[in-house]
Amino acid sequence: MAGKLIIGNWKMNTRAQSAQSLVAALLADPVCNQPWVGVAAPAVYLAALGAQLAGQALQLSAQDVSSFSADGAFTGEVSAAMLRDVGCRYALVGHSERRQYFGEANPALLSKMNNAMAAGLVPVLCVGETLAERESGQYLEVIFSQLAILAEVSAGEYVIAYEPVWAIGTGKVASLEQIAEIHTAIKTWCLQNAKPSANIRVLYGGSVKAENAESILKTENVDGALVGGASLDAGSFRMICQAA
Ligand code: PEP
Repeated sequence: MAGKLIIGNWKMNTRAQSAQSLVAALLADPVCNQPWVGVAAPAVYLAALGAQLAGQALQLSAQDVSSFSADGAFTGEVSAAMLRDVGCRYALVGHSERRQYFGEANPALLSKMNNAMAAGLVPVLCVGETLAERESGQYLEVIFSQLAILAEVSAGEYVIAYEPVWAIGTGKVASLEQIAEIHTAIKTWCLQNAKPSANIRVLYGGSVKAENAESILKTENVDGALVGGASLDAGSFRMICQAA
């Protein structure tokens, strides 16, 4: 069903051959080869996958984008313009693993958002609380503080992904009530505070699988899913896309 957006986040998985085989399997499947489906592949494979996806409906995403925009002496960085150049449509920004292992925080994430939009990418800002933050009852404050950069971004199109950290890769899924509460709160916050996006979509991420996709995707204010582990298997990912 058009309207939902499903992005598979491969994280630091695949090799050149398996990445191309996975994309070939998705391209051969009309359920997955759709403009509302995307794959976020490791940076080193994006150029080859961009060539493989040329002229196809399936979209390509980066897992990160540099906070620097101008070409120059930024060893190891990949700019938004480079990602656009090889065919990316989306870039994840502020995934919880980037926040946790690489110390990414709002000032750099704001630059990443702005650079991505300026280059013609649609950034997917990932927000979500840790288990300790949920248990302390402070989860809405945490999420709003992560969303705060949306009050400062240059206007443009972006997507938000709500990913409770305690549900990522753990097999624990937020309840439908918890998902509806947060997605509604995020949309309300955005209406009051965020710079307008052409169309604010809020994806859910955190142990989305073939078995739970349909109920999650039907939940109030859920506009799609960011899928980690299950996106590495074409059959599982297909079932999630089919549920959308
Ligand atoms: C993710 O990394 O964005 C994610 C949601 O992972 P998983 O589906 O494996 O929990």
